Amino acid sequence: MKTLHIKTASCDSHIICGEGAFQSEIPSLCEGLTFTVTDSNVYKLYRNIFDDIFSKSGTVYVIPAGEKSKNYNVLLGILKAMLSAGLKRNSTVFAVGGGVVGDICGLAASLYMRGVKLVQVPTTLLSQVDSSVGGKTAIDLCGVKNIVGTFYQPGTVVVDPMFLSTLPAREIRCGLGEIIKYGALNKDIYVKLIENKNNLRSPEFLKDITFDCIQHKAEVVRRDERENGLRKTLNLGHTTGHAFELYYKRKSHGEFVLIGMYYELFIAVKRGICAAEYADSLIQLIKKVINIPAYEDAEKACLMAVYDKKNVRAAEVSLIVPAEAGRCEELRLPVDEYAAEIAQCALKIREDKQ
Ligand code: NAD
Ligand code: MG
Repeated sequence: MKTLHIKTASCDSHIICGEGAFQSEIPSLCEGLTFTVTDSNVYKLYRNIFDDIFSKSGTVYVIPAGEKSKNYNVLLGILKAMLSAGLKRNSTVFAVGGGVVGDICGLAASLYMRGVKLVQVPTTLLSQVDSSVGGKTAIDLCGVKNIVGTFYQPGTVVVDPMFLSTLPAREIRCGLGEIIKYGALNKDIYVKLIENKNNLRSPEFLKDITFDCIQHKAEVVRRDERENGLRKTLNLGHTTGHAFELYYKRKSHGEFVLIGMYYELFIAVKRGICAAEYADSLIQLIKKVINIPAYEDAEKACLMAVYDKKNVRAAEVSLIVPAEAGRCEELRLPVDEYAAEIAQCALKIREDKQ
């Protein structure tokens, strides 16, 4: 088991990661009154841990699985249940699930009595390598993702790979999307990914790389908790990925991150920011996980990127693009220029397929 510590002006967060982390950490964290949020899938799959552990020290609140639960009605339901459970400021709230549970439960924990102790227990690969660490909480509003939220660091994050054994292949792919993103930001992770490129889905590899990704994110959060600069690098691939996600919807977030990375690499190479050879090595990794679609409406879809709240300047889009192993750059482009280059990339994919 490995541990990490994030100390910032607003928090002191402990991360315990590895096999056996759940069994060794959770019982002692359950002292006093607890309130646990999970989703319907996780509840069904892990009924025993809810019955044997969390129900014994407090309430277990189950929300419907899926992104659609990240709304204010579900948030209100959680807050009302916290109140009727008699939760106090010294009680502990557990978020046991993927990023959806982590985000909405984190938000509820930050609001109830202006903040109660929060423990994140991420159960998807994506939530283990990304969303459970860093303290961003959110719900969606009027179709805009993560637009209402807080920065609220969990006191403890318990990352146990045992949960991955029940994850559908698609959710593994989704987590790999973010893992490959870390590979484009961190040289050590990049090298490990290249060395294991035929082995990306093996449980042993995932266990190992999960900690490296968390370590990378923890370091970024330590230095820039509020996303004033460095933390923006974690959005690599996300501008285009998010635009496609809004427009095409069907795939999952991590898959769109990979597709976004691919399209943005095309721009980075074209503009001489990234050497073709390095870009190629990243593309090979991306293609191990997903087939890149040649989107017909790529240009139209990309114009949606202007609505991404992370692109603060309306007439421009901001892209974080790989420059060389372990280094990325921010590229600001006028929206129409950006959309045209994305369309060129789609055309190139179509031509290559013929
Ligand atoms: P999710 O929470 O919807 O989980 C994906 C699916 O896997 C769900 O159907 C869930 O029920 C199921 N599941 C969870 N654990 C399982 C297990 N162990 N075995 C089998 N099935 C299991 O989605 P996600 O991919 O974990 O997270 C996506 C969410 O995270 C999005 O809402 C996104 O906005 C958010 N996010 C937040 C941050 C952040 O910094 N806060 C970062 C990235 C993503
Ligand atoms: Mg992401």
